Amino acid sequence: MSAEQLSKLSLSDMVTTRAGSRTGPPQTPPQDSPTSSPVSPTPSIIESVNGHRYDVSTFDDELRRRAKIGLVKEDNNIRMRFCGEADDGQKYFFHLEDDITVKLEVERVPKCSCGVAQNRGACKHIFWMCGQLSSVLPTDETIPLAQDGSTVRNAHPASVLKSKGLDQFAEHLHWVIEDDLPEDDELADEIANMLSVFEPSGALPAEFKSEDTRELSVESRMYREFKTILLEQAVQCPAFYLRLTRLITSEFQVKRFFAEINKRIDRAFKALDVYIETGPTNRPSEGLDVVNCALRLNRLVQAIEEYRNESLESDAGERRDDELVEKLAGAVLIRILDEVTRRNYNAYANATWGVPSTNPRENNLFVCLIGPASEDQGLFVLDSLQDMAPNVIRHHSVDLGDIEVVLRNTPLTPPAYLNAFRTLLQDSRKRAASQSAGSSAKRPMQ
Ligand SMILES: [Zn+2]
Repeated sequence: MSAEQLSKLSLSDMVTTRAGSRTGPPQTPPQDSPTSSPVSPTPSIIESVNGHRYDVSTFDDELRRRAKIGLVKEDNNIRMRFCGEADDGQKYFFHLEDDITVKLEVERVPKCSCGVAQNRGACKHIFWMCGQLSSVLPTDETIPLAQDGSTVRNAHPASVLKSKGLDQFAEHLHWVIEDDLPEDDELADEIANMLSVFEPSGALPAEFKSEDTRELSVESRMYREFKTILLEQAVQCPAFYLRLTRLITSEFQVKRFFAEINKRIDRAFKALDVYIETGPTNRPSEGLDVVNCALRLNRLVQAIEEYRNESLESDAGERRDDELVEKLAGAVLIRILDEVTRRNYNAYANATWGVPSTNPRENNLFVCLIGPASEDQGLFVLDSLQDMAPNVIRHHSVDLGDIEVVLRNTPLTPPAYLNAFRTLLQDSRKRAASQSAGSSAKRPMQ
């Protein structure tokens, strides 16, 4: 069969047994170890575990032995790490375990870094590659093999790859293509992002990656060790990494991040209520006074902002769904803003404990975060919302309209804040009208 004929085979024509899959028991009895009988006469037809028969009648014993190891043996320890294609579309690289690289180039003799192939005939790795490529063929014909591995059923292995496409083979045989893999430092970052979703104390990705381990529980320390072990495995085995990415999807990671943020918002307001009820001492559970609750909320807004930046601007966030990040970030930020604008009063007015502060900068959450006490801190939440695409803002226009009324009706709202808020709403409406003409949104959301 020529390369052209081979290329016309659809994946459904390809046999379902996969030489690349190493799961499941061998279908033939184990073969002798190559070291125990290196020169024993071997038949001129070699049959693989998948039922493919290879004609090696022109091979000498040594070459037959190599072919047999590459094509038949389940325990030959030859495994693909990842593969790639040169830009010119003429060369393919296969990086195997033990730092072996097989190079297949159109119209050239296949090469292997193990060095054996340079002497005489192909090495076991090249025969293994021939076996991988021919494993997609039906098993009804004997497949002639060239001694140097330069033909599989009369077609050059590189031509076979070229005609069908490396990605087709990769999909069928579960190969990992180099382009799908992140760089080493990105891989470490991505593994940490993925594993943070199960962190026992609910750490956010940035916290999980932090070097500061002083406050960590035993479980969290252990979990970090676990991450190190998984990272080592992922570096060794790209296929393992890709399986992880398919399990802990970026969508799941994003949803998990904002679920944790929502939990922390609940906790912050609950702790404020506890403090208002019980004062600074004798608390049954965590308490936060107004000033510390404001600090906590500011840190949460900052954590959301950092997550957005990482997702939208860095390589590490490339796999995240920007639109989902923005949608969930918008919802959670507006929730915080809504809660704070509802707390424009002296939280300690009805306190029955001690002598609460009478200074609005210490007893009014609104004053702390939006009002006069916040003047040097930028525009609380609004700084992030201004940076979002108009469709995200428009989605919350009803809630934002209600918040605007509250802001307008209190003299404690700084004019700069109110003006920026109105501009945000007006801009999102204007951009809605002109969206079809293309928007100048800072973030790519359309
Ligand atoms: Zn080799």
